[in-house]
Amino acid sequence: MKKHNFGAGPCILPQEVFKQAADAVIDFNGLSILEVSHRHKDYEAVMDEARNLVKQALNVPDDYEVLYLQGGATLGFTIAALNMMRDTKRAGYMNTGTWASGAIKEAKKAGIDVNVFASSEDKNFNYIPKDYTIPTDVDYIHFTSNNTIFGTQFKEFPKTDLPLVCDMSSDIFSQEINVADFDLIYAGAQKNLGPAGATLYIVKKSVLGKSTSTFMPSYMDLKIHAEKDSMFNTPPVFSVYVAMLNLRHLLANGGVKAMAARNKAKGDLLYNEIDSNPLFVGTTAVEDRSLMNVNFVLKDEAHKEAFDAAWKAAGIVGLNGHRSVGGYRASMYNALELESVQVLVDVMRDLANKHA
Ligand code: PMP
Repeated sequence: MKKHNFGAGPCILPQEVFKQAADAVIDFNGLSILEVSHRHKDYEAVMDEARNLVKQALNVPDDYEVLYLQGGATLGFTIAALNMMRDTKRAGYMNTGTWASGAIKEAKKAGIDVNVFASSEDKNFNYIPKDYTIPTDVDYIHFTSNNTIFGTQFKEFPKTDLPLVCDMSSDIFSQEINVADFDLIYAGAQKNLGPAGATLYIVKKSVLGKSTSTFMPSYMDLKIHAEKDSMFNTPPVFSVYVAMLNLRHLLANGGVKAMAARNKAKGDLLYNEIDSNPLFVGTTAVEDRSLMNVNFVLKDEAHKEAFDAAWKAAGIVGLNGHRSVGGYRASMYNALELESVQVLVDVMRDLANKHA
């Protein structure tokens, strides 16, 4: 039976990419991709292509570096703070959810005096703050473009002349962005890019080597990674390889522009159902609804058993909300087909027809 993976990440990737990745596990130019040296020229070509495809997909300007590191976006919280720290050692952060809070916590540990100038914690992060003043006496501004756990997404990015840093883990490659608006973008691979293991950094070259932090382990220093063409140490070889395959697939299928249209169609389909179905209600502010993670609940928990049984029987997996919020979360990353969303919508409608 066909599975419909609505998991929040690691998550669905295109079937074709899975097949190509599987082939390379057996045969990558005569070796397995799992045994090939990262210093082999064939693998250096993979790393080069994986970096270049990011540039193509997002129209990254020439004065930016694209790097693949390890440590997830969680290490990104620290790497961002250490690399962006300047004379004031202060930074402005927006607190829009669990991951944004994590970024704040780690920045403080890295020695940043954090000014949380906007927060949606008052309503359990169910909206994106709009009424705020961006501080000017700080080294940089940090925000999280898509809040994976709570299902909210910035529709407009904060505007500032200060260096802008974004954790784009859960919506990068889902829409067009203007990279030039940012000094640093980082994202764990395991949503729209590839399997877990790699973390993507897109950093403006002028940022590199300017940190005022007294503590800067070599691995945390983006300048060192840039100088070594993202091969400072052993990179996450397989994760980068599959990211390359996935980026090839993305570009062959219309790039991020086409993905944005697909993602909009999927979002419209599911949000329309949530709004019109008498059994369900969305949990986030309508104007801030994420196209990547759709959070909703049953109005009456009495239907939970029937609903859970029905979506599982339809081949749907990964629909439970994050353990910290409960309810349901349909993650609809690039590779999820509209057809899969239709299966979920049919299950919801069927339940309403039986029980409403
Ligand atoms: N930021 C965001 C927006 C996320 O969605 C996640 C993970 N889902 C993280 C950070 C943490 O990423 P990682 O597990 O790769 O460290």
